[in-house]
Amino acid sequence: MRDPEDELKALEAAGLRRRLRRLESPQDAQVSLAGSGKCLNFSSNDYLGLANSETLKAAFQKHLETYGVGSGASRLVCGTMSPHLELEEILAGLKKSEAALTFGSGFATATGILPALCGKDDFLILDKLCHASLIDGARLSGATMRVFPHNDLNKLRDHLSWARSKATRESRILVVTESIFSMDGDRAPLREIVGIKEEFGAILLVDEAHAFGVFGPQGRGLSAELGLESGIELQMGTFSKALGLSGGYVCADQATIDLILNRARSFIYSTAPSPALTATISNAISLVAGVEGDRRRARLWSNIRTFSDEAESAIIPLVIGENEAALNASEKLLAAGFLAPAIRYPTVPRGTARLRFTFSASHRQEDVTALKKTLARLEFD
Ligand SMILES: *Cc1c(COP(=O)(O)O)cnc(C)c1O
Repeated sequence: MRDPEDELKALEAAGLRRRLRRLESPQDAQVSLAGSGKCLNFSSNDYLGLANSETLKAAFQKHLETYGVGSGASRLVCGTMSPHLELEEILAGLKKSEAALTFGSGFATATGILPALCGKDDFLILDKLCHASLIDGARLSGATMRVFPHNDLNKLRDHLSWARSKATRESRILVVTESIFSMDGDRAPLREIVGIKEEFGAILLVDEAHAFGVFGPQGRGLSAELGLESGIELQMGTFSKALGLSGGYVCADQATIDLILNRARSFIYSTAPSPALTATISNAISLVAGVEGDRRRARLWSNIRTFSDEAESAIIPLVIGENEAALNASEKLLAAGFLAPAIRYPTVPRGTARLRFTFSASHRQEDVTALKKTLARLEFD
């Protein structure tokens, strides 16, 4: 039998071994890292600086008193409490959909909904750079899967035309993409994708994980910014990024949501998220959708612009190439007081290891300027 030690050595030799780092402070713009001390954090997805927000901490404490810490069971047994239904109602309103369903994480959302909606007679067409959770969900579904090169609309059209020729009358054809891509920070051409899927009578799932809270009026996402909500059958996302908490959601018409709650295994066979956490997510949404959200988005965008004139989102990659080189670059940066871990295969394609900088409303402008100056000074090889 294979020895796990040998497999770890092989990962190490390829520059692919991963290790946990211990933060000894709350998640924030500045964190304290075991062994390295204080550093400026340019690697979290806490885009609006809410993970350690005083407002949300106070709300969480209040909800703990009201609802307790645990939900005790899965949603369909006896774990559905008022906060879960209230959150789903708020989400459906915000996303202009009939209904919504929440999950323990974004990952569980993706791996739950794709197999719930698609099976062996169906077709799933995904962008090449879709998140691991979408790929795993697609694989689990047993549907015929086709991948198009990142944002390549001609290839998407080819796959759709092929799927149409193979589909029966009952087949579902589902296109899957993200609005803001997690490792490159670029956008999908959503308007064009909506047009194309309609031509072929397909439906569309858009994962707004990195756009919810950051784009659109009230932070409602890129779909809202482009006025496309009614053209997107499945809007999914997470509370784990700009909302600073954790959990995932999908918004769709009522029948689709009812079907998902009857079929999604990650929903059915998993304990409902903590009611106190869930109620706090509703507070986070109100905050993000209100004037405080606007203020934080303005600070976030000002920080992004201080770093780059061209960035399309709060995610800015610096592609280095080889794993070792990316690891060395990350270590040099850490020694200079900046946390930005190397992102390697299989999170990104081979040969494109990178530093992935993420910006937050909680960074001060001088933090961003300091990062920029340090990057200009350091030599990465
Ligand atoms: C982070 C992410 C997820 C997973 O969300 P979690 O709530 O962290 O499990 C899903 N999709 C995309 C595109 C993501 O970036």
